Amino acid sequence: MRKKIAAGNWKMHKTLQEAEQTASALEAGITNDPACEVWIAPPAPYLATLAATFKKMTWGSQDLSQHDSGAFTGEWSSEMLHSCGAGFSLIAHSERRQYHREDDVLAHQKILAALRHELTAVYCCGEHLSDREANDHFRIVENQIREALLALSHDAMGHVVIAYEPVWAIGTGVTATTEQAGEMHRFIRSTLADMFGDHIAASARILYGGSVKPGNAAELFSDPDIDGGLVGGASLQADDFLAIIQAASAS
Ligand code: PEP
Repeated sequence: MRKKIAAGNWKMHKTLQEAEQTASALEAGITNDPACEVWIAPPAPYLATLAATFKKMTWGSQDLSQHDSGAFTGEWSSEMLHSCGAGFSLIAHSERRQYHREDDVLAHQKILAALRHELTAVYCCGEHLSDREANDHFRIVENQIREALLALSHDAMGHVVIAYEPVWAIGTGVTATTEQAGEMHRFIRSTLADMFGDHIAASARILYGGSVKPGNAAELFSDPDIDGGLVGGASLQADDFLAIIQAASAS
C-alpha cells in the first residue's frame, strides 16, 4: 500500500520569519500520526533552521547541484542538503526547465546526486499545453521518464518519487481533470513497469501537481493512481495546505 504524500513547494516566497510562522501553524495542525506524509521545500537558506525546529514535516530542497563539491558558485550539493536535515530534493521542476534550461539528461545526473547522499529524488515531469493539443503528451512524458530514470537500479527506484505536473496547470488555476491526471499516472506506471518491472511500478509513488487547491484535492486524490500532490500556491497558507493534507489523509 503506497502512503500518500502532500508536498509543498514554497518557491521563492516568504521571509524566514514568515516561513517559521507558516511552519509553526502547520506543525500545530498536523496530527501526531498523519495518514499521509507532509513534505515541504522551503527556500534553501531556511532549510537547516526549519528542519531542526519543525519535526512533523520532511523538509527538502527545490533543486540541487549534480556535482558533489567544487567551484560552483551559488549552488549546493546533495551532501550539504543532507547535512542541513533535508530528506528530499525536487528535480527538474518545470520552472528549472523553463528558466534554467534544465533537461532530462541533467535531471538524470541530479537524481544520481540526490541518491548518493540519501535524499529522495522527486522527479518532476509534464507536458506543455501545445504538446497536449497536438496529442503528443504521452510521448513527451514517456521520454522524460525514460531519459531521467535510465538504468537506475531497483534499489535506487525505491528512493524516487515522480511528480506529474502538466506545465499548463502550474500556477495557472487550471487543474487537470481527475481523468486526465489519472490516465497519465497510469501511463507513467506502465512505463515504469516496462523499465523496471511490475513490483517497482506498483510501489512507485506518483504525485500530481498543478493548481491543487482545498476545493479539488479530495477529488484528485480519490484516483487510486494519484498518490498525493505537489502543491505550489496553496501550500503557502497553512489553512489551505492543512485542508489538502486532510484530503490526502482521508483518501
Ligand atoms: C508547483 O510549483 O509545483 C505547482 C504545482 O504550483 P501550483 O500548485 O501553484 O500550480
